Amino acid sequence: MNECLFCRIAAGSIPADIIHEDDEFLAFRDINPQAPTHFLVIPRSHIAALSDLSAEHADTMGRLAVTASRVARDEGLDQRGYRWVVNCGEDGCQTVPHLHLHVLGGRPLGWPPG
Ligand code: 5GP
Ligand code: ZN
Repeated sequence: MNECLFCRIAAGSIPADIIHEDDEFLAFRDINPQAPTHFLVIPRSHIAALSDLSAEHADTMGRLAVTASRVARDEGLDQRGYRWVVNCGEDGCQTVPHLHLHVLGGRPLGWPPG
């Protein structure tokens, strides 16, 4: 059995509040939201972290960006704006080792991040 939490969500063996899914990507609400709207966009294929990317991932990452933009629009975030975050590794505060893009919006967000 795949031990990766987000692979298991993608496979449907762990429930999640899914707001978009297609052949390649899944978007679902974060279980511990940090903003009124906070969802994660993941590739179904397992990529552990940003630091593992290579040229073969370029098209996937491009389509992931387009998908996240479309879902943000569907969630009504495009008028006021929103933020994307991808945490990587220990210093980046990554806790789930399956690449995921956070989309946060629905309130003014502080800058710089802590
Ligand atoms: P990271 O810290 O790796 O950038 O983000 C992991 C995110 O996944 C966190 O914001 C955390 O709240 C979320 N998360 C962890 N476990 C689950 C889960 O089982 N379901 C959902 N929907 N989100 C989760
Ligand atoms: Zn995975």
